[in-house]
Amino acid sequence: MERFDVIVIGGGVVGTAVLRSLAAYKAKVLLLEKSSDVATGASRANSGIVHAGYDAETGTKKAYFNVKGAAMFPSLTRELHVPYRMVGSLVAAKEGGLPAIKALYERGVNNGVKVEIIEREKIEALEPNIAPDIKYALYAPEAGVVSPYKLTIAQADHAVVNGAEIRLEEKVVGISESAGGYLVVTDKAEYHASYVVNAAGAGAVEINALLGESTPEMKHAVGDYYILDSKAAGVVNTVVFPLPDEKGKGILVAPTADGNVILGPTSRVVPHDEAEINAVTREGLALVREGVGKLIPKVDMRSVIRVYAGTRTAVGGDFIIEESCKFKNYFMLLGICSPGLTSAPAIGEYVAEKVSAALHLQKKEAMRPLPPRFRLTEASDEDIKAKIALDPSYGRIVCRCEKVTEGEILSAIHSPLPAHTVDAVKRRVRAGMGRCQGGFCRPRVMEILSRELSIPLSEVRLGDKGSEIAPYEVKDGYGKI
Ligand SMILES: Cc1cc2nc3c(=O)[nH]c(=O)nc-3n(C[C@H](O)[C@H](O)[C@H](O)COP(=O)(O)OP(=O)(O)OC[C@H]3O[C@@H](n4cnc5c(N)ncnc54)[C@H](O)[C@@H]3O)c2cc1C
Repeated sequence: MERFDVIVIGGGVVGTAVLRSLAAYKAKVLLLEKSSDVATGASRANSGIVHAGYDAETGTKKAYFNVKGAAMFPSLTRELHVPYRMVGSLVAAKEGGLPAIKALYERGVNNGVKVEIIEREKIEALEPNIAPDIKYALYAPEAGVVSPYKLTIAQADHAVVNGAEIRLEEKVVGISESAGGYLVVTDKAEYHASYVVNAAGAGAVEINALLGESTPEMKHAVGDYYILDSKAAGVVNTVVFPLPDEKGKGILVAPTADGNVILGPTSRVVPHDEAEINAVTREGLALVREGVGKLIPKVDMRSVIRVYAGTRTAVGGDFIIEESCKFKNYFMLLGICSPGLTSAPAIGEYVAEKVSAALHLQKKEAMRPLPPRFRLTEASDEDIKAKIALDPSYGRIVCRCEKVTEGEILSAIHSPLPAHTVDAVKRRVRAGMGRCQGGFCRPRVMEILSRELSIPLSEVRLGDKGSEIAPYEVKDGYGKI
C-alpha cells in the first residue's frame, strides 16, 4: 500500500489550492479526484468574480478569507499565468436603493475593502449602457475577473511540478482510522495517509459520513448562466450586480477574464442528490434575461454562444474551515460557496500551515516556477515565427474561432497534469470555446487525442467515463469498435 503524508480529497479550486500550498513543504502529498479532470465541480461553473469583500458579514470566515484571497490574485495569477483582470465592480441601485448601498459601503469599510458610493454621472462614465433608472452604485475598484478553471488547473500543474501527485478518476469510497493515520480506499486502490483534507465540495458530506464525522445540513442552489461571444465585449466594462437579496448577490452582467460576457446566475434550490447534475432550465434562463434587462438592457441575446449551470453548496451562513474535534489530523472544508473561488488561495495557505504544524513539515527552500503556455493570440509576430521554426505544429490552426494551434493542444495533452479528454483540452487552451463551440475543431481535437494517447477514436471522451463521442462506426474507418 502506498503511504502519503497528506491526502487531499477533491480537485476543485479549494483542493488544488491546498495541494499547491502543501507542495511548498517537504512532504509526500496526493490529491484524489473522482472526475476525469480537476475543475469539473463548482470550480468550473461559476461567475469567475474575484469579489472585493464588502458582501460577507464582518467577522465571518467568508469575510476574512475573501479579503485575504482577493489581495493574493494579482501576484498569484501572474505567477501561474492565469487570465485575471481587475475591472472593478458596481452594485447598482434605483431611486430608493441608497440606504442598502450605504449598508454595503459600511460593511466594506469594516472589512477593510476599498469602496465608494457613486452617482449617475460617474456610473455612466464607467458603464455607458447602464439602465436609465439606476441612480446609485457601490463601486469597488479592486474587484476582478478570473478564469476559475484555468486557476484550478494551474494550481494543480504547479503542485505537480513541485512533486505533488494527482490521481484522476479515483473516487474515495472509504476512510477509516489506521496506524496513527487513515486508510483511504478508492474504487481503484488503498492508501495510507498521516493527514486527510476533505475538500470534496458537494461530496464532502459523503466523505465525512464514510469516516463517521457529522456534517451540518448542506443546501444546494443551482445558478444558470449565458455566455456571449467575444464580439459582445464592450457592452459592459465592470462587474455589474443588482442589490443583493436573501438568495444572494443576484444576476450580474460582467466581462470574463477571457474576453466574453457572462450573464447570471440564478439561485434555484435543489436536493442533495441533484447537486452534481448542473443542468440549466428554461425558467432559470428566463430569470437571467429578466435580471440582465434591469441592469444593462442593451445586451444583445443574439450573441449567446453557450448556456451552463453550476451548483453552490452551503452549510449555514459561513464557511466551515476547521480540523475535526473527533478525528485528529482530519481537516474539513465544508460549504465553500461564494466567495469560495476568491478565498481559495488564502484557504490553501491556511490549511497547509495547519497541516505542516501538525506533521512538523519543513518548508522547501523555493518552489519551481510553472512554465508559461505559448498562446498564439498573445504572442508577437517574432515569437510566433521563432516558435513555428522550432515546432511546426504551432503553425497549424485547429480551432479557428479561438485561433488555437495543434502545438497548444499538444502542450495541454502533455501538461504536468495531462489533459486526456476533449473538455480537458478545451479548459486548458480554449479549443472549442468560441463561436462555433467546437463544431469545426472537435473532430480534429479527437484525432490528436487518439494519436497522442494511443487509443482508438471510439475511446476518445468528452469528459467522464461514458462520454465517448464516437463509440460506433458510422463511416468506414471512423469511430471503429
Ligand atoms: C453558480 C455559482 C457562482 C459562483 N460565483 C462565484 C464567484 O463569482 N466568485 C467566487 O469567489 N466564488 C463563486 N462561487 C463559489 C465557488 O465556485 C466555489 O466556492 C468553489 O468553486 C468551491 O470549490 P471546491 O473546490 O470546494 O468545490 P468543487 O469545485 O465542487 O470541487 C470538489 C471536487 O471534489 C470531487 N469529489 C467529490 N466527491 C469525491 C470523492 N468521493 N472522491 C474524490 N473526489 C470527489 C468533485 O468531483 C469535485 O471536483 C460560485 C459558485 C457557483 C456554483
